[in-house]
Amino acid sequence: MKKMFIALFVAYSLAPLSAQDQDAAIFKSIYSQALSEQQGFAWLTELCSMGPRFAGSEQATESVLYFKEVMDSLGFETSLQAVKVPRWVRGPQEKAWLVQGIDQTEMAVTALGGSIATPEGGLKAEVIEIKSFEALDSLDLQGKIAFFNIEMDPTYISTGYAYGSAVKQRWAGAIEASKRGAIGVVIRSLSSSINKYPHTGSMAYAPDVKRIPAAALSTFDAELLSKQLKQDPDLQVKLDMACEWQDSVYSYNLIADYRGSERPEEIIVVSGHIDSWELGTGAHDDGAGAMHALESIYLLKEMGFKPKRTVRLIWYMNEEFGLSGARVYAKAAKADDSERHVIAIESDGGGFTPKGFSIDASPEMVTRIKDFRSLFEPYGIYQFSKGGSGADIGQLKADDIVLIGLRPDNHRYFEVHHSQLDNISAVNAREFTLGSASLAALIWIMDRDDVCISCTK
Ligand SMILES: [Zn+2]
Repeated sequence: MKKMFIALFVAYSLAPLSAQDQDAAIFKSIYSQALSEQQGFAWLTELCSMGPRFAGSEQATESVLYFKEVMDSLGFETSLQAVKVPRWVRGPQEKAWLVQGIDQTEMAVTALGGSIATPEGGLKAEVIEIKSFEALDSLDLQGKIAFFNIEMDPTYISTGYAYGSAVKQRWAGAIEASKRGAIGVVIRSLSSSINKYPHTGSMAYAPDVKRIPAAALSTFDAELLSKQLKQDPDLQVKLDMACEWQDSVYSYNLIADYRGSERPEEIIVVSGHIDSWELGTGAHDDGAGAMHALESIYLLKEMGFKPKRTVRLIWYMNEEFGLSGARVYAKAAKADDSERHVIAIESDGGGFTPKGFSIDASPEMVTRIKDFRSLFEPYGIYQFSKGGSGADIGQLKADDIVLIGLRPDNHRYFEVHHSQLDNISAVNAREFTLGSASLAALIWIMDRDDVCISCTK
């Protein structure tokens, strides 16, 4: 299959094929190569076998250094960009119990990323259930544990919107509850299914508001607690967590360039984030996205494609806990006049079957990219919409850059997201591989057709 592009170009220049048919043939060769080889899935399996990659952990940096060597061996020009990351460490045990008299029922719980620990011996108090932020002012939380029980709205077809509708309890729950006197907070895990697996994620404190411990209950236990509270409003919850903040450490963004032959100073970014939460191994979030990026440039190089612009892989460090790597990269990129970022692509929606692309650009540019839809349709990719791209590349936002996010099917994503279920067994090799091939095809056609050059004029 090597040098497929060259062979195809030669063949089609001799045969009477239309331009559209020639493009379709190139697309077919990219998807065929990806599905026959499945190299990205092999790398993803290897990555996940190295353990979780929480920013600030040794494994996170080790995975960067290991794959830098892999990328070197593939012939890309690699470099590391130092990134200072906060260091927060989950305790050896985290437990919660529903306490009714002498009865204690253990609940599945996990600390939210950034939470302080509970006092030695745990924290026990009565509980107030909160179904919406609007209801907060009518509730007396003094001395209580606040229980935010806002479910992801199941009526949204995009679970991303459902997540967005409920994530405030994780992000701002501790602040709003503490302002009203609460001594701890538990939230309903942001999961689209009911089970015993709690989901973590980042949370915030505010400067003048007392910090209180914050944790997520599994959806199963949130339902249980809600039901029991209706029968026994005086029941208590006990929470015991020993997480802690440590000194910040340095880690890296990993950058690998596939240098352009005509306009090397124009950069097409293809990216994912290499850090993950530490309950699972971040196979979907965002091992899959990181490997989509690597496999896409690997496929293009392997098949003999010579980009006009420099195609740049970026594995961002620390998307999950503050976007540190994306901020460092964007700041350096804006300060460097020798390069111009024209397109940035991100995959951070998991390794499920790709459905389309979300494009953050001018309406004219969105229309131009939508013209490629017929080429992607044979591969099930037809949802081309104007919208957000991704958190990391969002830092590069400017008038003269097109930002694009890969949009995989998301019905199962929030079942595993930020939980111990996010491991390699949750990833289907074919579904994942279609994502890599889609990015490779998108890069190929956008570089070939000079898409985005007009957006700078
Ligand atoms: Zn992510």
